[in-house]
Amino acid sequence: MGTLHQGRDRSRCRLSLVIRTIGSAVVANGHKPVLLTVDDDPGVSRAVARDLRRRYGQDYRVVRAESGRQALEALREMKLRGQVAAVLLADYRMPEMNGLEFLEQAMDLFPHARRALLTAYADTDAAIQAINVVDLDHYLLKPWDPPEEKLYPVVSALIELWRATGEKPVSATQVVGHRWSAHSFEVRDFLARNSVPYRWLTAEQPEGRRLLEAAGLDATSIPLVVTPDGDTLVDPSAEELAARVGLSTTPTTDFYDTVIVGGGPAGLGAAVYAASEGLRTVLVERQATGGQAGQSSRIENYLGFPDGVSGAQLTDRARRQAHKFGAEVLTARGVAAVEVRESSRVVRFTDGVEIAAHTVVLATGVAYHRLDVPGADRLTGLGLYYGSAATEAPACAGEDVYVVGGANSAGQAAMFLSRHARRVTLLVRADGLERSMSYYLIRQIRETPNVVVRPYTQVIGAAGDEHLEQLILCDFRDGRTETVPASYLFVFIGAAPCTDWLDGVVARDPKGFLLTGPDLLAGGQRPAGWPLDRDPYYLEGSVPGIFAAGDVRANSVKRVASAVGEGAMAIQLVHRYLEAS
Ligand SMILES: Cc1cc2nc3c(=O)[nH]c(=O)nc-3n(C[C@H](O)[C@H](O)[C@H](O)COP(=O)(O)OP(=O)(O)OC[C@H]3O[C@@H](n4cnc5c(N)ncnc54)[C@H](O)[C@@H]3O)c2cc1C
Repeated sequence: MGTLHQGRDRSRCRLSLVIRTIGSAVVANGHKPVLLTVDDDPGVSRAVARDLRRRYGQDYRVVRAESGRQALEALREMKLRGQVAAVLLADYRMPEMNGLEFLEQAMDLFPHARRALLTAYADTDAAIQAINVVDLDHYLLKPWDPPEEKLYPVVSALIELWRATGEKPVSATQVVGHRWSAHSFEVRDFLARNSVPYRWLTAEQPEGRRLLEAAGLDATSIPLVVTPDGDTLVDPSAEELAARVGLSTTPTTDFYDTVIVGGGPAGLGAAVYAASEGLRTVLVERQATGGQAGQSSRIENYLGFPDGVSGAQLTDRARRQAHKFGAEVLTARGVAAVEVRESSRVVRFTDGVEIAAHTVVLATGVAYHRLDVPGADRLTGLGLYYGSAATEAPACAGEDVYVVGGANSAGQAAMFLSRHARRVTLLVRADGLERSMSYYLIRQIRETPNVVVRPYTQVIGAAGDEHLEQLILCDFRDGRTETVPASYLFVFIGAAPCTDWLDGVVARDPKGFLLTGPDLLAGGQRPAGWPLDRDPYYLEGSVPGIFAAGDVRANSVKRVASAVGEGAMAIQLVHRYLEAS
């Protein structure tokens, strides 16, 4: 799974967003297609705009500029805001940049816009020559009065021509990157996992190039993120991106009844119950809500969804439910420490900001083991992915892809990828799937002709220059190795709890899982330093008021339903703790 960098060097640019007036170019907000007119004579400029507005104002935005430079600036802003230019009307004789020069440059930004030149009679020769140079659709002789006869028929014809192109405004966030760029993947994965709709363009695609040009950047400045408001971010950090696409990243206060760390099913379950029961609640998630479950293409065994539910859908509903009850949900904020300060439990974010609460619920789940073989680290995000089947699946169309792992998560990914890829090979170390995967998935895999299970197999190397090109596989039985061509490898090889940062704060088992309740009572003794005259509650850790729920908890059942259940139960125990203290 890709992790957006938190602190690497980056540049961020924000274009001037004084969109209503750029010099004297007037650009309106909204996503109606634009009719743009440019004339250096303010009187003529206003008159053309007035006439255009009168006839087309209901369906089109009329934008006017008084120089080619201003008009281009307006077009760049429009490009970044996802607006489209339908018709460009340019005066021929303008100082600095004449109408032809303007139209030529405008074509680079809006090649589908239809183009007309306003000329005086004396300039008709130049206009005729321009028909080839800038692929001019029309020229209009000044004056164009009455517009009903001379202007509108031409503009209406141009609009008809433009409509035939089918060009549409874009209201989503846009991302320009390279197919084989780990940072581009991280941005897309982050947006997808946070349910932020986005349009993906490579820097090689014409529209990708146009967006880069409109932002004044080149193909080295990727990934470029352009928000629907036209804000541009180059190679943003997760927090920066989250804040710009409308996700909350900042707590509204500094003291809560409960802080929930981790936004998987356990954390979201806890947030829904805590907020619905009137507790001042904040949930802090370092990446994207949903946790592991959010990456599941289809959860088929969660109660109440007989036809299955995607992790993304379940997460979206849970997040909305938590919001509805008033829980704050912070995204892209990692927690680095928890401290006890008298009766408060203080949570410190990775950037040093602190919030305090009466109680903390730790729901940090588990993270995938990394594939520890030569080449794997370098190729992560460049064809080798940890649990990101959903984001990359469409790019696998027609390809042979590999999935490593024998548990349900790998099985689900294989089934999901089989809808896109030519063939999916599931690499498992055991002799088959029976001991590690649910029966319903094994049956689905058997019934899917383009999913092949390769038992006794381990990946021992990954190779490729710019992206994954080959895998080296080893057969356990005879040690035979084989190098196979591969552009995609999805890794699901078990997971470890995300608790290193809690070392020395709360008790953990030898594998790092958090010990709670009865598990803390070794030989009937309460944990060292336990200050209260009662045993720890069932989901309470070795420090009073700090609870654990879900996969991160020692001896928990690693399932969505149990994680949600533990989240709810933890809140009951929070109430009990608050009542007693
Ligand atoms: C691909 C896949 C498919 C699955 N399918 C199924 C299924 O079909 N049915 C089923 O029952 N189970 C399934 N599971 C298992 C199930 O998803 C997990 O048991 C469940 O998600 C555990 O929930 P959790 O909230 O305890 O932890 P997680 O889901 O692991 O969530 C923990 C969250 O905490 C965040 N976090 C970690 N550390 C920090 C920190 N320091 N600061 C802030 N945030 C932090 C993480 O980013 C993460 O979002 C699947 C798992 C995977 C990976």
